[in-house]
Amino acid sequence: MSQRRAPTSSWSFRIATIAGIPIRFHFTFLLFMAWLAFMANRSEEWAAIAALIPALFLCVVLHELGHALTGRRFGIRTRDITLYPIGGVAMLTDRPKPAHEFWIALAGPAVNVVIAIVLGSVFFAMNDRLPSLMFSVEKFSFLEGLFAANMMLVIFNMIPAFPMDGGRVLRALLGMRMPLARATKIAGTIGQILAILFGFVGLLTGHIFLMVIALFVFLGAQQEVMATVGISLVTGYRVADAMMTRFRVVAHMDTLGAVAKILLEGAQQDFPVVFGEEVQGLLTREDIVRGMAAEGKDAYVAGCMRRDFKRLTPDDPLEQALNSFTQHDRSPVLVMHGDQLVGILTTENLAEFMMLEQARSRT
Ligand SMILES: [Zn+2]
Repeated sequence: MSQRRAPTSSWSFRIATIAGIPIRFHFTFLLFMAWLAFMANRSEEWAAIAALIPALFLCVVLHELGHALTGRRFGIRTRDITLYPIGGVAMLTDRPKPAHEFWIALAGPAVNVVIAIVLGSVFFAMNDRLPSLMFSVEKFSFLEGLFAANMMLVIFNMIPAFPMDGGRVLRALLGMRMPLARATKIAGTIGQILAILFGFVGLLTGHIFLMVIALFVFLGAQQEVMATVGISLVTGYRVADAMMTRFRVVAHMDTLGAVAKILLEGAQQDFPVVFGEEVQGLLTREDIVRGMAAEGKDAYVAGCMRRDFKRLTPDDPLEQALNSFTQHDRSPVLVMHGDQLVGILTTENLAEFMMLEQARSRT
């Protein structure tokens, strides 16, 4: 379906690796497969429909590989491909330039166009007529079904709304003429209006699947706009511009009880752990709570801290700090100048920085 830069969902699991890219299933994709299998079970043509399921799955993967391999040509890597009921998502590690995004977004649907042309030609040669786009469970043919599915993938994905590929093509075209954040907001707004329309039609006609798609599109559009606006707010800044420079450190031989007292006294929640001048680790509020529960208040900090903390230098782009905070890892970044600790960056103070920046950009 699309390409996105978002954290990996924990509701998915890896099933294969192609061209060095992990392919993952989202659990809702399995529900969709189960629904297809259930429908197939009620039909005379169940064998053909059952064969369609892995074939359809293959077409979706090829679509995503179209995005991923085009991205690779522009030097952008793909972290993984996850399959959802309404398509797949190729997770790119970097944000492409508008001119590149245009081709990357177009490459996915183009793969399905090629597949549809091949299937249509074979069908025409065998039946002397063009395949129908109507999907019928009663009068089902494998070739016709797969052709229709690929055409649907093309039509659905070329809807000019986020998070579909068409929305990305639109954003890329707008992005060549205006700032990316504004282009994303326009494409995102169109996506949400279309999603509301889909939802409304789904409600009136009782098509639950349409309502589910509407919800996916609505949330996807919102997520993309927020991510892009967030990145536009930190672009051009360095880590040093947003980091906290007044903070407390704790020693590795301090007890959890002593640190808990500091936690209650002030607003700071995460503490760099030092041994003399040397930074040894990071003790977050969760670490303190977990350590207290497991070992009591007399346990040493050294036994509860994390040694594999995230670190950046003051001169690193602030965008890098934003990218380091994911759904699963919101722990702070220690800002180090060589071996010397010069600051901390937490999600809270990055959010504050972005709020101030947004307020400033409005005036
Ligand atoms: Zn796509």
